[in-house]
Amino acid sequence: MIKLQRKVLLLSTILSLFLPVHLYVYAEPYLAPDVVIDVGHGGIDGGTSSSGVLEKDINLEVGLKLFNELNKKSFNVGITRINDATLSDESQFTNLSRHMRDLKQRMIIANTLKPRVFISLHVNWSKNKKRRGPVIIYQVSEKSLQLAHLVQGHLNEYYGVNKNPFKGNPYFLMKHLDMPSIIVELGYLSNSKDFGILTDEESQGELVDAMVRAVEEYFMLYPHENVTDTVNRGAIFQSRIR
Ligand SMILES: [Zn+2]
Repeated sequence: MIKLQRKVLLLSTILSLFLPVHLYVYAEPYLAPDVVIDVGHGGIDGGTSSSGVLEKDINLEVGLKLFNELNKKSFNVGITRINDATLSDESQFTNLSRHMRDLKQRMIIANTLKPRVFISLHVNWSKNKKRRGPVIIYQVSEKSLQLAHLVQGHLNEYYGVNKNPFKGNPYFLMKHLDMPSIIVELGYLSNSKDFGILTDEESQGELVDAMVRAVEEYFMLYPHENVTDTVNRGAIFQSRIR
C-alpha cells in the first residue's frame, strides 16, 4: 500500500462547495498532476471476473503499482481510488443509475484535477477464449492517439501481439474528459495465458513498466511548457477515501 505520510491539505473549500467531490491534495500551491490513473470499478462493482478473480482487484493492484512507479519517476500522479471504494457512493447525482454515477464521479475527479493525461485501467473478458492481449481505447484527439499508440506498442511487445488502438467515441469518459485520455484494457481474464499474466505479481509489474515507458515517451513528445512546473514534481493527489 501507499505510504500516506505527507501533510493533507484541502484542495479548495470553495471548490468543494460546488462539486460533489472533495479532493485532498498533498502539495501547495496547487499544481495539476501529470497523470491521473483511473482504477476501474470497485466496491459493489466487481467488473468482469473469472475463476473467482475480480477485475476490480486487478485494476487496483496494477493501478497502485503504476501510481508508485510514476511517482518514483517524479511525475505528479493522481488516482481515483486506492482501496476497494465504490465511487458511485460519493456522487450527488442520486437520480442517475449506479453505473452512471460511477462514471460521472470519475469524470468530475479528472476534470477537477485537470491532469495532463488520464489513464483508465480495466480488464477484458470474451466468450472467445482465444482472444488475448491489450486493447487501448482513445479519446478522439491527436495527443490521446499518440499516448494510445505508445501504450499499445509497449504492451504489444510484452504480450507478443500486434494490435492497434481504437477510437472510443461511444465511451462516456472518452466523450466528457477535457484532457488526453485513454482506456487500457490490460488483457483478457477469459484467456488462460492472459489470466496468468494479470494475476501474477511479477508480470503485473512488467505491465506497469511497459506503461511507465509509454508515459515517459509521451512526455518527451509533449514536455512541460512551463519550467516552474518542475518545482512541485513528485506531489501526490488522490480522491477522498471513505
Ligand atoms: Zn472494466
